[in-house]
Amino acid sequence: MFDILKTIFWAIPRGLSVTFKYLLSRSVTVRYPEQKLKLSPRYRGLHYLERNEDGSEKCVCCGLCAAVCPSGCIYMEPAENEFGERYARVYEINELRCIFCGYCQEACPKEAIFLGKEYEFSADRREKFIYRKEDLLVAYRKEGSKG
Ligand code: SF4
Ligand code: SF4
Repeated sequence: MFDILKTIFWAIPRGLSVTFKYLLSRSVTVRYPEQKLKLSPRYRGLHYLERNEDGSEKCVCCGLCAAVCPSGCIYMEPAENEFGERYARVYEINELRCIFCGYCQEACPKEAIFLGKEYEFSADRREKFIYRKEDLLVAYRKEGSKG
């Protein structure tokens, strides 16, 4: 008898108090995808490549980003344009192998590559995660990404 009373008047109210405490506290989840995620200023998402003001590509295919990349997920092939300037004929990043460490951004002497804020790039095939230069030169959301 004592056990039943203890359960009704002590254990159950105590358990419900925990439930109500979380019902009344501020939500830490969002209704994704209707609501977008509030990202940390330090968030590192999908890469993008910058252009110069005249529209030319900033990347000179020096290879430093690939050399510093701990995942070995950057591949490039250099070439020269008609003015003898070096550029990346091929530049690819395998986003499945990338660990978003940001070393490539730090190493780049031309400030050509950055990790942006884009996080919505799920895909249904592995091949779609290999981003070519043409994909990376597209202006993804960049707000605050150089911070
Ligand atoms: S963020 Fe890190 S792992 Fe990803 S491509 Fe850059 S250096 Fe490599
Ligand atoms: S992105 Fe920067 S570090 Fe990488 S090859 Fe181009 S210029 Fe060099």
